[in-house]
Amino acid sequence: MAANRTFTMIKPDAFEAGNSGAILKMIEEAGFKIVAMKATQLTPELAGKFYEVHKERPFYADLCAYMSSGPIIAAILEKDNAVEDFRKLIGATNPADAAEGTIRKIFAKSIEANAVHGSDSDENAAIEGSFYFSQAERVG
Ligand code: GDP
Repeated sequence: MAANRTFTMIKPDAFEAGNSGAILKMIEEAGFKIVAMKATQLTPELAGKFYEVHKERPFYADLCAYMSSGPIIAAILEKDNAVEDFRKLIGATNPADAAEGTIRKIFAKSIEANAVHGSDSDENAAIEGSFYFSQAERVG
């Protein structure tokens, strides 16, 4: 089951622009089932914890400030081959490099404000999903 799940956030730029509905529509039309979902806002401390793996990167402080700058939507998604298929659906980190038709190509504003997050492994999908949702808050 865990191997078929991924975790996503609709980031502050996309939420603020009113693109959450359009992005969720693309996600569902691509065959992903929403297993858990909530609108919330990270504190800078929680953003720092979520992105701890990037703490040595030069953009870490900016990323934490940006990710806590406004509301987001966090969700756990289910589909066969969820992690890999979702990374394909969202496109490259930098929207300038993202393939046509991908979520980041359509909605991202910059390499930082890139509209959506998608887990990069099954292990991280489980860790990230648990960061936001308890067992009681998700389907299964
Ligand atoms: P992802 O897996 O495609 O989200 O990319 P990474 O794990 O490499 O980076 C995490 C997040 O940090 C990205 O989604 C961006 O929001 C941000 N980010 C990545 N690279 C850069 C960069 O070079 N500059 C800035 N300002 N932000 C970046």
